[in-house]
Amino acid sequence: MLLTLYLTDNCNMDCSYCVYEKHPDNMTSDVLIKACDLAFSRGKEAGLCFFGGEPLLKKDLIYEALEYCKAKSEKTGIKCSFTMTTNGTLLDDEFLAKAKSAGMGIAVSFDGLAQDVCRHFKGVEDSRSFDVLEAKSRLLLKYLPSSVAMTTIAPEAVPYYFESVKYLHDLGFKKVAFVIAYGKKVSWKESDLIALKEQLEKTAGYLRDLYASGDDFIMGPLHSKISEYLTGNYPAKRCHLGVKQMPVTPCGDLYPCTSFIGDADYLLGNVFDGVNEDKAVSLSRRDALPETCRECDLKQRCTNSCGCANRLNTGFENKVSPLQCSYERMVIDIADRLGEEMYLIDEARFTEILSKV
Ligand code: SF4
Ligand code: SF4
Repeated sequence: MLLTLYLTDNCNMDCSYCVYEKHPDNMTSDVLIKACDLAFSRGKEAGLCFFGGEPLLKKDLIYEALEYCKAKSEKTGIKCSFTMTTNGTLLDDEFLAKAKSAGMGIAVSFDGLAQDVCRHFKGVEDSRSFDVLEAKSRLLLKYLPSSVAMTTIAPEAVPYYFESVKYLHDLGFKKVAFVIAYGKKVSWKESDLIALKEQLEKTAGYLRDLYASGDDFIMGPLHSKISEYLTGNYPAKRCHLGVKQMPVTPCGDLYPCTSFIGDADYLLGNVFDGVNEDKAVSLSRRDALPETCRECDLKQRCTNSCGCANRLNTGFENKVSPLQCSYERMVIDIADRLGEEMYLIDEARFTEILSKV
C-alpha cells in the first residue's frame, strides 16, 4: 500500500501561492511506525512518500522510517519504495547519501528562473531562494541524477515559463513537471492565459528541437498528455481517491487526498485503528465526471475528475473551474501538435521516449 506521510505541517518557506495551512504539528514516532506497518499490511508492495509542509524539517523521522522499513522488508520479503517531495533548501550530503542507498525518488519544488517571484523564506520578506535552490539542485543531481524538478507557475511568473524549462534542462534535470498555481491565493486573468499559451507554444518548439537532436528530456504536462493518449492511461483512471495513495496526517488520520484533509466526511480511519474499507471503496467508485464535461470530446484526457484540484478551485469535488477547463484545452491542443511533429521526426524513438514519462 502506498502512503503519503505528512511528517510536519510546518515549512521553512512561505510561498505566496501555498495552499497548505501551516501548523506546528509534527508526526510522532508512534504514528510513523504504525503508518509503516499499515503500508506493509496491504498488497504486495509497500511505498512511502515523505511529504509536508517541508519533510526535511523532520529528517530524524525519515531516517527512522528507512531503517524500520529496511528491517521489515528483510523479514517479510515485501519491497518498499520511497519518494519525497521537498522544497530542496535543506538537502545535504548526509541525507542524499542515505536517500541514494535507499533508492529514493526525489522531486524538488524549484520554480526555475521564476523562483524568486513567489518563493521566499519564512519570516524574511522578499528573501531570495534562487541561489540556494540552484546549488541544492546541483547537489541533488550529483547523488540522484533522475530527480525531477516540479515547477509551479503563478500568473506573475508566466513570463519566465519557457526560459525556466530551458534553464532546468541546462542545469541537468532530465525530467521536469510544470503545473499552474491554483487556489484562493492566485488570480488568473484572460491576459495571463494568453501569455501562458505563447510560453507553452515556445516550449513545445524547444522540446521538438531537443527531441530532433536526440535529447530525451521529458516535460510535464506536454509529454505527459501525449503519453496518456498513446497508452490510454488517462488521468481519470490514475486517480483513485484513497485506494492507490493515501495521505497520513501528523496525528495519523487517513484521507483520500490532500485537499480533503480535515473534512470529517472524507476521514477514512487512522493508522492505529486501520482503514474504513467500505468508505474507501465507495469513494473510489464514485462517478467523478463533472456534469459539465459529459459531452466534451476531451473528457478522458482532461484532469476534470481530480477531486483534489476541483475542491481547491471551486470548493466542490466534481465541479471544474473555468481556469482549469481553459488550461486543459490549451495544453492538450499544443501537446497533440508536438506529438505529431515528434512522430514525424523519429517514429522509432517516439514510443520509447514517451514510456519514460
Ligand atoms: S515550500 Fe511548499 S509547503 Fe512550503 S510554503 Fe512553499 S509551497 Fe508551501
Ligand atoms: S476541457 Fe473543460 S469541458 Fe472538457 S472535459 Fe475538460 S474541464 Fe470538462
